Formats: sequence, structure tokens, C-alpha cells
Amino acid sequence: MVKFVFDVDGTLTPSRQLMDAEFQSWFIRFQENNATYLVTGSDRIKTLEQVGSHVYNFAHRVYNCSGNSVWEQDKEIYCNDWKLPQEAEEWLREELEISKFPLRTGLHIEDRPGMVNFSVVGRNATLGERKLYAEWDNKSEERYTIAKAFMEKFPGILALVAGETGIDIFPEGMDKGQIIKDFEGDYVHFFGDKTEKGGNDYPLAKLITNGEVHSVQSWEDTWSLLRK
Ligand SMILES: [Mg+2]
Repeated sequence: MVKFVFDVDGTLTPSRQLMDAEFQSWFIRFQENNATYLVTGSDRIKTLEQVGSHVYNFAHRVYNCSGNSVWEQDKEIYCNDWKLPQEAEEWLREELEISKFPLRTGLHIEDRPGMVNFSVVGRNATLGERKLYAEWDNKSEERYTIAKAFMEKFPGILALVAGETGIDIFPEGMDKGQIIKDFEGDYVHFFGDKTEKGGNDYPLAKLITNGEVHSVQSWEDTWSLLRK
């Protein structure tokens, strides 16, 4: 069977923001005629808010928290209860102290099923504050540096740059790649904006042997590819 798997942030929506209304109506019609799946680092509540209940519920299955919280409509069919080791949490708090980015908005280490999201600017940042951090991170490559150092310090735990401001942290193998087992024998079209090495879509992208990986720059890009 041909199946369409979509990342959310940067692929169906602008990062952490709502889906464009026009694209949303178009996409719902696409879902009526195609088997669609969502896979995102965000939790169910955030994804519902971003894509709306129609897109969420018309998906055959939604892999929240990188596949650690799996939903079919309003029923959770799988949940992973991994916790970040204390030592790793302390290490992240130190990084938070020494980062040269001047702003902290709170909620820097966010617990989610099977993973943790780390953000120097913090999850409470406004859109403008997030943008400031993203620009600064582009120049300094802080997130790549922290992620790399984290993985050297804590073998067996992965740290991947995700979205515009965060780093997703989880045990090896509990990334988006873990969902591939549900697609045995299927032809998979996977759309993601972070499919290159080091990105949070890479672990899944590299496992797609029967299908196509579509690396997109934005939701507009995804839409134009789907129209073709
Ligand atoms: Mg993305």
C-alpha cells in the first residue's frame, strides 16, 4: 500500500505554529483519498492545536513525541515512559547557565513521553523571542555544538537539533526511525524538513528503502510537491 508520512513543524506548518487555513482544507481532501500519517516531536495537545482536529483525526495514525506516544484519533495505542537520567539533566542545566544567548523565558527542559526537549531560550518564548534565538543559533551553531557534546558525554542517548529553537533528547532507537516497523511492505512517501544527518527526520529518512524521501524547505514546498 502507498502511504504518506508527514513531519509537522516546518513540513505541514511553520515551526510551532498553526497550519495555513487554505492548505488545511486542501490537505483534508488529500487525506480522504490517501493514507496519511503524522510523525512529530510534539505531543498530542500541541499537534491538535497546530493542524486542527480534522487533519489529526483523518490521519490513520499520529506518532507524537517521535513515536513514543502513538494515537489513533482520540485513543493512545502506545506510550513509552523513559525518563532523562539525573546526571544528564544537571549537565543540560549547566549548558543553560553558560550559553551566551542573553534571554531565558522558562521551561527549558520539557518532559514528554519517551523524550525530553531542551531549549536555551525556553518553551515560553514568544514568536519574536524564538526568532531572535533561531537567528543567533544559525550564526553560532550552538544547538549542534550542545547536541554533539551531549552525545559524547552520554553514550546511548541521542540529542538532535529539532525545529527552530530546541534539541530533542531520547534513548538511541527511540527516535522517529522507530515507526518504520509499522510500514513493512508499504511504499512510503516521507515528507520532512530536517532529513539531513543531525536533523530529527534523518533517523526515519535513512530507513526508507521502499519509497521516497521528500526533503522540503517549508509547508509551501510540501503543498506544491503534493499538487504534483
Ligand atoms: Mg520538522
